[in-house]
Amino acid sequence: MKRAGVVKKRCDCRDPQTGKQLGDRCPQLRVHVKGRDGGPKLGKDGQPEWRWSRDHGTWWAR
Ligand SMILES: [Zn+2]
Repeated sequence: MKRAGVVKKRCDCRDPQTGKQLGDRCPQLRVHVKGRDGGPKLGKDGQPEWRWSRDHGTWWAR
């Protein structure tokens, strides 16, 4: 199955220090997945797993 581009979320939050838009780098867009021990769940690459927030930001594709 072919995926039609990359679907991401972005928002209009700004960095309080620089005043620049965070876009898809806003920390509120990413919800970290918890493992069974209550700590952050790590993916295959050793990075914490996360998913897009359900109620923050808007979807966009390119
Ligand atoms: Zn945001």
